[in-house]
Amino acid sequence: MLKLDLELSKISGVGEKFLKRLDKLSIKTVRDLLWHFPFRYEDYSKIVKIADLKINQPATIRGVVRKVATRRTWKRKMLLVEAVIVDETGGVSAIWFNQPYIAQVLKPGREANFAGRAISSQGRVYLSNPTYETISNRTVVKHTAGLIPIYPETKSLTSRGLRYLIEPILNGLEKLEDFVPEEILEEYDLPEVNSALHKVHFPRTMDQAEKSRKRFAFEDLFLLQLNNLRVKRSLLKEKAPALKINAEQLEAIIKSLPFELTGSQRRSLDEIISDLSKLQPMNRLLQGDVGSGKTVVAAVAAFISALNNKQAAFMAPTEVLARQHYKTLMSIFKNLDVSIGLLTGSEARAFYSDNLESKKTKFQLLKEISSGQIKVIVGTHAVIQKSIVFQDLALAIIDEQHRFGVEQRAALVKKELNPGEETTIHFLSMGATPIPRTLSLTLFGDLDLSIIDELPIGRKPIITKIVSPANRNKAYAFIREQIKSGRQAFVICPRIVAAEVETEESGATIPMIKKRKDLWQEVKNVTEEYEKLSQKVFPDLKVAMLHGKLKSPEKAAIMSDFAAGKTHILVSTSVIEVGVDVPNATIMMIEGADRFGLAQLYQFRGRVGRAEHQSYCLLFTDSESAATQQRLNALIKAKNGFELAEIDLKLRGPGQFLGDKQTGLPDLAMRSLNNIILVREARSAAVKILEQDQELIYHPMLAAQLGRFEKNIHLE
Ligand code: ADP
Ligand code: MG
Repeated sequence: MLKLDLELSKISGVGEKFLKRLDKLSIKTVRDLLWHFPFRYEDYSKIVKIADLKINQPATIRGVVRKVATRRTWKRKMLLVEAVIVDETGGVSAIWFNQPYIAQVLKPGREANFAGRAISSQGRVYLSNPTYETISNRTVVKHTAGLIPIYPETKSLTSRGLRYLIEPILNGLEKLEDFVPEEILEEYDLPEVNSALHKVHFPRTMDQAEKSRKRFAFEDLFLLQLNNLRVKRSLLKEKAPALKINAEQLEAIIKSLPFELTGSQRRSLDEIISDLSKLQPMNRLLQGDVGSGKTVVAAVAAFISALNNKQAAFMAPTEVLARQHYKTLMSIFKNLDVSIGLLTGSEARAFYSDNLESKKTKFQLLKEISSGQIKVIVGTHAVIQKSIVFQDLALAIIDEQHRFGVEQRAALVKKELNPGEETTIHFLSMGATPIPRTLSLTLFGDLDLSIIDELPIGRKPIITKIVSPANRNKAYAFIREQIKSGRQAFVICPRIVAAEVETEESGATIPMIKKRKDLWQEVKNVTEEYEKLSQKVFPDLKVAMLHGKLKSPEKAAIMSDFAAGKTHILVSTSVIEVGVDVPNATIMMIEGADRFGLAQLYQFRGRVGRAEHQSYCLLFTDSESAATQQRLNALIKAKNGFELAEIDLKLRGPGQFLGDKQTGLPDLAMRSLNNIILVREARSAAVKILEQDQELIYHPMLAAQLGRFEKNIHLE
């Protein structure tokens, strides 16, 4: 009997070549293989008479091979095998490209099943690339009858190959014990693991297949929810310093701000203040549209920590952003008694309550942090994680980075920033990517959520237009006009996207496992765009270029020139995406807009419209596909980021929606993330089990599985 953990290389009959291909799909053990589920099924459940074949419908015929011929196609020099198959109702041809061995197998006189689609071309009907299976008396057909599973494939590993491999292994598998408790299976009407595993690979009906898939999606969501709830509970047991502020002090701060807080800023702030005042650590995500004003809310939280004579760390993903936050904090705290430090890879600065601001050596700054003289430290997280010793850290704020993995970060912050301390710290994470409710329920089930869903008053909605190639020059003229009237423009260069491959068997496109995007190619793109704009289109204007391969001081200089209005147009890769604030910029022009996700486009657009000027977002695209138009139109229609996120999720599904992020969540679970009913059921099931058995002592199988799951997911 085969065990789940057995490595496939130990099974005789699985060849070297196969193992290598499997390895590409990260399939190493029996478990990996059996948990590699079909992503759809072709329905060949009825054997059709040749006379009844319908064009373009999947069907299986059974017949005798009458004649086989191999020849080269005239135009494309491909090898073509053609077989004539007959049954009692008639005959039909089947053709295969570049599979010469088929002629060896399908000798005239053999009986076989052929499954595929009938197509019609030049007045003839034939089966194109059908899957075949020769029939002898003892054959149990698995490729051409019933529902045929279609797997995610790599180039040289077809669904047919996978089926060959999976079937005997599945039949030789030991009987598995189910880690999902029986009462849960019963309550939610889910099949137990052994039969589900058989039926997910080789279902007899679509209903069986769906039920089994649901079970496996459920099991991952269930584990995810157990994990979330456990993290949440364990945080409740931890202690953190209570940070208090009285009503008068709070009103004084709010009055001293350069603007009036919006209703949802105020509400979020109250939620944060209430968390901070408790003896348990805050673990909160502050979500809000781009430009909704999250920074000021976080800044007040940092100030409260200083008021309690404790320290706060304010971390940003890039140096540009860290510097910007530092400036914002200085202006917000101008009249308040608080000292702030800036620490990035390339600079160290400090601002004291007497309004003096100066450059520091890193050494000086670190000393002032460890002595407690500086209360709020702004920086990139890389720096903060490595070298700082705090005197008394109470609050960590992380901006834009990203929406996941808060528990991991909480652990990290605890370990790295507060070694050996009894108490842990409060934690505030900020994100400008609005996440649909369904996803936040699963992915951040362990967090509390504050949402800023309105923009400060007086902002004009950004006018968004799709620009086709024919209107390019008109758009350039418009940009020039804006710049002449004193405004500035961003130009974003297209992203490099991974190619999609066609599978041999089904003809469906399956996105291949993505390669990491090639930074250098991006640099090349942005350079070309820069040259075009600066030399040909706008030779009279000042154009600058920004990309990820530039050194930090260069980037900072380019950004600050742009912010100061010294350059008119900033051509950039998507490094510009996160939080840059240049209120005078009113144009966001995006090349190859179809290559970006909606959430990302939304982020870009948020870079403009940050002041009183009317702003514009120009989406350049060559694509005329309906899907592209629909997606880009969603950007024009959606009222706010949350609405857009819901649309994006519907259009693309959770996998694409979450983008390049490797969540470690299995495919099936990923695709189920927007199944709100299943997500809710999984959550209720997890609550129920933990209520009975908090430590999972009576569910050892489940505990073990959860351990394995937690090791694999990284929602970072
Ligand atoms: P984000 O939520 O995208 O991080 P920011 O915090 O950078 O947004 O705020 C965007 C801009 O809006 C900043 O220039 C900030 O000073 C300004 N701002 C924030 N809150 C308000 C408000 N209530 N009224 C007017 N302007 C505001
Ligand atoms: Mg921000």
